[in-house]
Amino acid sequence: MRTEAGRLLYRRRRARPSTTHPLAPSRTRSIGHTGAMSHRLRDHLAAAALDAWAALLPTSCSGCGAADRALCADCRLALLPAVHPVTRDDARIWSGLTYEGVARHVIAAYKDNGRTDAAAALAAPLRAAIVAALAAAPSLPALHQVAPRPTGIELVTIPSSHRAWQVRGYHPVDALLHRVGLNPAPLLAQRGVVSDQVGLGRAERAANKDHSLIARHPLNGVAVILVDDIVTTGATLLEARRAVFAAGGTVVGLAALAETRRLLPG
Ligand SMILES: [Zn+2]
Repeated sequence: MRTEAGRLLYRRRRARPSTTHPLAPSRTRSIGHTGAMSHRLRDHLAAAALDAWAALLPTSCSGCGAADRALCADCRLALLPAVHPVTRDDARIWSGLTYEGVARHVIAAYKDNGRTDAAAALAAPLRAAIVAALAAAPSLPALHQVAPRPTGIELVTIPSSHRAWQVRGYHPVDALLHRVGLNPAPLLAQRGVVSDQVGLGRAERAANKDHSLIARHPLNGVAVILVDDIVTTGATLLEARRAVFAAGGTVVGLAALAETRRLLPG
């Protein structure tokens, strides 16, 4: 399966393949294509603007605070992929990093302080987690049994709330995927306004996420790997999995940039 995983990733980095491979990008990506392209352009513009800003103004390493305009060498080393599986409920989630120390500082700065200079370093462990999820996905014959007309395995991220878009101006996970030539399929949408998760306890977070996502269209025969940034309780990925199942799709893997074993308050 490593070969299949590598082939999928390789294909996704190139132009559309001329032949139809079971794991090749599918026609479902054409849905919402305009929106995805505009998001991608917006991600690139935001990254370019912030990179330029970081190059012009003195700043510090977002991992350790050392005087530098970007990540220092030691912190880059600390962000090398360390892929491992974690379990939330009955789900196995492949994580590229542990959300602690340097990784925690850098990811938080990337998500909340516009430190997109760390995007390249963070994209590598996310990609490694996706490769691991692909490698652990069902073999093609088994996949045909659960998804009779598989048109490919889609990467699907969690859609941002309107508020998050307004605050950040880019989608943190989509921007990382774009860095390594991967295009997430915009198959999910926020059902409505979801309260901010900050300050909520474990039970409250789970309740808050209940049925918050919905598929944009029927997903019969569509196989999906769900991708998120930080796994804590897993409530977000589990809700996304529920939404895919509810639309008739199949989730064959879950991947995250980092996971945290910290106990949540409450
Ligand atoms: Zn550093």
